[in-house]
Amino acid sequence: MAEENILQRAPSQHLGPEYKSNEEKPSATVSTKVSHENVTVLPQTPQLIALLTMIRDKNTNRADFIFYSNRINRLLVEEALNHLPVHPHTITTPVGRTYAGVKFEGKICGVSIMRAGEAMEQALRECCRSVRIGKILIQRDEETSKPRLFYDKLPGDISERWALLLDPMLATGGSALMAVDVLRSRGVPEDHILFLNLIASPEGAANFAQKFPKVRIVTAFVDQGLDEKNYIVPGLGDFGDRFYTM
Ligand code: URA
Repeated sequence: MAEENILQRAPSQHLGPEYKSNEEKPSATVSTKVSHENVTVLPQTPQLIALLTMIRDKNTNRADFIFYSNRINRLLVEEALNHLPVHPHTITTPVGRTYAGVKFEGKICGVSIMRAGEAMEQALRECCRSVRIGKILIQRDEETSKPRLFYDKLPGDISERWALLLDPMLATGGSALMAVDVLRSRGVPEDHILFLNLIASPEGAANFAQKFPKVRIVTAFVDQGLDEKNYIVPGLGDFGDRFYTM
């Protein structure tokens, strides 16, 4: 395990804009600092930490869990889109002036790892109208305890697309690493894959950085670690259960 890439677990930080003094800014636990170049952690703002506090709370009901996790998913998708290339694009405004802007000209595709990843599709659809979405079902084999691919359905032209891989919790990374193998086998270049998750473990981030250093991980938070059952801690429990069935 690449422990040297974990700079500090569970640091505390005063939250708020720079112009405020620390006395005005409550402190909270923020993302563990990792030094993997392929990991982008969302800015630890008061809004994000408040949203994460809601979904981490075991007393939060399912309706609120869905609402607040969707808000974080929107932030993740917007940040992931920042990593796609754009070209100069100059337009004319209604008052006849030109504006030198940019435009994204590539094609994207969401790929959700069933079932929890499907919970992130709504945010992707809200940001990218009529986006194609593929599915991958990977489950742990009872006998070997290793992840096993059961099903995948991906657009035929996925090799020409930027793939936004969706799975809310990056624990050991076993399923997501296998999902990247599937995408690679369909011709998607490693550096055209972005992996979006709400909470990552330092171990999962390290496993990814080691095997697929060109896959960009976009996460809201790197947590402290994993427990003996490979749940992320402090985490939020089982994301799929809390989103779909609890
Ligand atoms: N999947 C979850 O839903 N929660 C975890 O903590 C780890 C994996």
